[in-house]
Amino acid sequence: MLSLNEGTITAAYIAATILFILALGGLSNQETARRGNWYGITGMAIALVATIFGKVTGNYALLVGALLIGATIGLLLARRVQMTQMPELVAILHSLVGAAAVFVGFASFMDPNTSYTGVEKTIHNIEIYVGILIGAVTFSGSVIAFGKLSGRIGGSPMLLPARHWLNLLLLLGAIWFGREFVMQAAAGGGMQPLIIMTVLALLFGIHMVMAIGGADMPVVVSMLNSYSGWAASATGFMLSNDLLIVTGALVGSSGAILSYIMCRAMNRKFLNVIAGGFGTGGGASAAGGGEQEGEISPVNADETAAMLADAKEVMIIPGYGMAVAQAQHTVYEITKALRAKKVNVRFGIHPVAGRMPGHMNVLLAEAKVPYDIVFEMDEINEDFPDVDVSVVIGANDIVNPSAQEEPDSPIAGMPVLECWKGKTTIVLKRSMATGYAGVQNPLFFKENTRMLFGDAKETLDQVLKDLT
Ligand code: NDP
Repeated sequence: MLSLNEGTITAAYIAATILFILALGGLSNQETARRGNWYGITGMAIALVATIFGKVTGNYALLVGALLIGATIGLLLARRVQMTQMPELVAILHSLVGAAAVFVGFASFMDPNTSYTGVEKTIHNIEIYVGILIGAVTFSGSVIAFGKLSGRIGGSPMLLPARHWLNLLLLLGAIWFGREFVMQAAAGGGMQPLIIMTVLALLFGIHMVMAIGGADMPVVVSMLNSYSGWAASATGFMLSNDLLIVTGALVGSSGAILSYIMCRAMNRKFLNVIAGGFGTGGGASAAGGGEQEGEISPVNADETAAMLADAKEVMIIPGYGMAVAQAQHTVYEITKALRAKKVNVRFGIHPVAGRMPGHMNVLLAEAKVPYDIVFEMDEINEDFPDVDVSVVIGANDIVNPSAQEEPDSPIAGMPVLECWKGKTTIVLKRSMATGYAGVQNPLFFKENTRMLFGDAKETLDQVLKDLT
């Protein structure tokens, strides 16, 4: 079997680290995202080859078997998953990182060939303890997040009466058993406090995510992404693997930055999200929605096509419903037809439109919408007074004026796309049901709003037919 020397492994690890950093940089912009993915894939391939042929010393049959099983599962999942199921896939993948940290921790602790003594041993044991702690919280939290996002567990927050005290108790318990573990491990024992802490950490993960409501789940997923990074980093310390330490820290910090960006986009404080209780919408449109607030003006596909063809400035605002309906290709065909008629068509993207950050950008890129007509909310919000027709496709909360007008609204303060300031807004949705946050939208009842009811793909196909 090929065996790489220390120098080659270090060089390979540095190359992989640089590629991972380039991958993160690439993924921050849709024009470079594809390249970013390739950097990541190449970095991971280099890391795997260097680890398999440099670090692993035996048991190749087991390793190859595990790699084949893992790669097959990954391939099958990636092929099957729908864009709307991405958050739950990400959540369940995080749980695997957490479980890996727990298993590596116990294996390291039970390893009979360990050569650590004295202070080094104490440090190693602390690494094991912290790694298992973060890993167990990540594991159980991610499993619950998966359950909530896929609708297997109800979306409303579970609020136990003394939940903050319970969390504090679990945290103090983890610290107390950590001290016990380090002392007992120095004398050759320690398994008991390690197991007790693992159980406490698993309960903490369950309790933390159960307390968080549907609307905040995507923030929780990126927070668990961050945890999974720190769990991987801790695993790196246990295995003395520099690449794992650095890569874990990259994932940990980028997940934390993403959580912060998403909280800012929803005007939520990170600590409030973690403390739970918000977003009782359950992640699905509540049938019937909130209360009716006035008259609505329905419109049909022919009229919509005529209004679009007569317009000079059109703004398309995609939301979660566009992903559900898979209407992005039709949307682009309509864009092309309108541009051929000299209509200026632009897209306005809210940072949390859909169910994941970047969700809409990915869908539009898939449909080959040119990047130079896709704008972030902050770039185009001032332009709405000059827009003739805004087309809201399966979006709801991100265009809800009550975020600005009703201080008591659950989404008060969340920045929104101010489409109602344009001449006409056409909203495509199937019913009057509410969006993710479960609140009614006064936009639907405004004088300059028209409702085009039906599945977005079906109605847009009709609009396209009428346009061409
Ligand atoms: P919403 O969930 O608010 O609204 C989606 C709308 O799409 C619904 O009103 C639904 O109405 C409609 N819809 C569903 N299926 C179809 C279909 N097949 N055809 C036509 N319409 C359809 O989505 P938004 O994108 O506006 O907002 C995202 C929400 O997610 C925000 O509340 C945000 O806070 C939250 N969120 C997003 C995060 C992110 O990172 N992306 C992070 C955290 C929260 P109907 O059932 O009547 O058709």
